Amino acid sequence: MATNTTTKKTAAKKVNTGKTSSKKSPSVAEATNHPYNIHKSLLDHFGFDKFKGTQEQAINSLLSGKDTFVIMPTGGGKSLCYQLPALIMEGCAIIVSPLIALMKNQVDLVRGYSEKDHVAHFLNSSLTKAQQRDVKSDLIEGKTKLLYVAPETLTKQENLEFFSDLKISFFAVDEAHCISEWGHDFRPEYRRLKEMMSAINPEVAMIALTATATPKVQSDILKNLGLRNPTIFISSFNRENLYYEIQPKIKKDQTIKNIVRFISQNPGKSGIIYTLNRKTTEELAEILVANKIKAVAYHAGLDAKLRAERQDKFLKEDTQVIVATIAFGMGIDKPDIRFVIHYNIPKSIENYYQETGRAGRDGLEGKCILYYSHKDVSKLEHLMRDKPLSEREVGAQLINETVSFAESSVCRRKILLHYFGEDWDTNKCAATGGCDNCNPTAQIEAKENVVNVLKVVKSLEQRFTIDYAVNVIMGRLTPQIQMYRHNSLPLFGIGKNEDAHYWNSLIRQMLLSNLLVKDIEEYGLLKFTPGSDLFLKKPTSFLITLNNKFEDANAEDDEEADAPVANVGAAADEKLFDMLKELRQKEAKKKGLPPFVLFLENSLQDMATMYPTTLKELEKCQGVSVGKAIKYGKPFVELIAKYVEENDIEKPDDFVMKSVANKSSNKIFIIQNVDKKIPLETIAKNKDLRIDALLEEMETIVASGTKLNLGYAIDDMLDEDEQEEIIDYFRSCETSSLDVAQEELADGGYEWEQLKIMRIKFLSEYGN
Ligand code: ADP
Ligand code: MG
Repeated sequence: MATNTTTKKTAAKKVNTGKTSSKKSPSVAEATNHPYNIHKSLLDHFGFDKFKGTQEQAINSLLSGKDTFVIMPTGGGKSLCYQLPALIMEGCAIIVSPLIALMKNQVDLVRGYSEKDHVAHFLNSSLTKAQQRDVKSDLIEGKTKLLYVAPETLTKQENLEFFSDLKISFFAVDEAHCISEWGHDFRPEYRRLKEMMSAINPEVAMIALTATATPKVQSDILKNLGLRNPTIFISSFNRENLYYEIQPKIKKDQTIKNIVRFISQNPGKSGIIYTLNRKTTEELAEILVANKIKAVAYHAGLDAKLRAERQDKFLKEDTQVIVATIAFGMGIDKPDIRFVIHYNIPKSIENYYQETGRAGRDGLEGKCILYYSHKDVSKLEHLMRDKPLSEREVGAQLINETVSFAESSVCRRKILLHYFGEDWDTNKCAATGGCDNCNPTAQIEAKENVVNVLKVVKSLEQRFTIDYAVNVIMGRLTPQIQMYRHNSLPLFGIGKNEDAHYWNSLIRQMLLSNLLVKDIEEYGLLKFTPGSDLFLKKPTSFLITLNNKFEDANAEDDEEADAPVANVGAAADEKLFDMLKELRQKEAKKKGLPPFVLFLENSLQDMATMYPTTLKELEKCQGVSVGKAIKYGKPFVELIAKYVEENDIEKPDDFVMKSVANKSSNKIFIIQNVDKKIPLETIAKNKDLRIDALLEEMETIVASGTKLNLGYAIDDMLDEDEQEEIIDYFRSCETSSLDVAQEELADGGYEWEQLKIMRIKFLSEYGN
């Protein structure tokens, strides 16, 4: 884990409260004004011989009675900053922590450092009255050194009075970002903490700790907790061992295929895939399993026992990949997670940072890949529609930041760290974990246009957003612009010759270089910085790279749709496809069977895409069962082998994804329901399929060798004579096209479904 301990000057300046002091851990203890030997305590209680990062300084500050603010990335070792002082100081420390579920865990951990269980307790609504009495009696007797409470516990009047009579060593507020609505995990109850703590004991020191604090969140914490001239310790947020990459999510199938391929190429490496909704977790996990990857889904809809079980399996490595909604990961400490994939865009950069932060906690490789599409952004926005207006505004801005992160062509690290108030020298990115944008990209000189942007922002009196400024620059006559009469500004339309993409890229990069700031508290208005005036006075070279274009990357197929994932990937080789069709025709004739009984059209498509040259490989094509491959496959793979050889074809992709269509629960469901003679409409409805999709599924089932007794359904649709006529046709037909069948049998006036189901019956009876 990268626990760099450099002071972040920018952040400190913005926070502007108290001083910052945090240099590399000194080898000799600094002069301290407290009597404790903390190195000895570290060894005695925790068994560690060295402090990590800023722990030592933070502990010294707290022990000296000063309010202390610790910002340290996840896994940095924040708990020790209050646990150690609590164990050695007189009295009991009160620790506020938002997650009741994790409190027991934390208490158990602390108990592990002591001989006596009563050294740590928690007090929250999950305890019975009797249990609460026991805890309180230990507190009165002074046996307890750490008391974990939920914020609600503090606000209860009876507790307030009780705590006021206790000897308190200090207050700790863990996950302090919960106090800010700009944090990703806002808890309104945190807002009353200061009041409660002052009521209990205004004298003792307070320590606040958090892992995610943008400058805005930092100042909220300082203000709302009323920290008194605190010492602030900020560790760098840079995670040197993580590699960041954003990929366009163009088609669902292709994206899933990429993911399966990535995981298959990383056997045995643990990873998390984050998705937006429960259904997608299940769907993806199922596909991974079909591809022999040990994967499970995890989401809040599963009962607690199953969730605990799955989490446990993941921790114990019985499961390689967990496909989860954001319900997963809070407080989990698995050091060797090698990749985190975002299948959907997260709703804020904080979330992204937290979630990707779970990779590589042991300091070794960690890959973070995000699949990005505009459509997912709309989905996120849609999810907020029922929230109160103020929350929606905050949410929209957080999403907006994530979008510009995704689309930017600037070093990912630079943007992430800028977001957390840190400067980053782009040249260092490639030397550490790297990111997809730190490959050389074309840069454009934008000096003059920077001046133009600054002039526009100035003439808009720093009272408008990026979008508005872009509209003015481009001379777009929006109703708002008309209302403010900004179309009469001399600068209106000054940047007509560039598109909005260009201006957005430029302004984003000006923000990153502190040539402008966005005031998030004021709806993201663009404001000047000292750098802005300086630049206007003396413009200098300003090179930019244009944002990545994702416009065409809209996921065109709806991921909610239940379409089976099949026929994934590159287009078929048409020449080969025709040759295969011809061969099928020939072989079918020899055997006196209609061609489609040998292989379905989409099996041939797959062959012409993946070039299988052995029977084993052939089985990987859709609709090709083991039996079918053995029975009919030989001439086909021989033809393909020859073709590959003669045309010097490098197989495009040795990797072949098994679509869930071969094994999915849908299939099993269909087979079982047909056995029970359930009407097809009912089956389709229960699986949320259209009838034609159901029939397609059935055809793949029988094509790969499973019999389906559809007689009961067919008898409802066609009488005996009709059935016979259709079967006769299939016996002699030379094409598998149902359109042709419909024409040839025009007199019967058959529906597509009728012909289709008969063909399935035919395949089922004669096909294998
Ligand atoms: P955070 O709350 O900052 O996410 P934790 O307090 O849970 O992190 O600590 C993360 C891990 O680091 C824990 O496993 C903890 O035991 C370990 N740790 C903390 N301090 C030290 C130290 N000084 N030396 C070695 N390991 C430490
Ligand atoms: Mg913690």
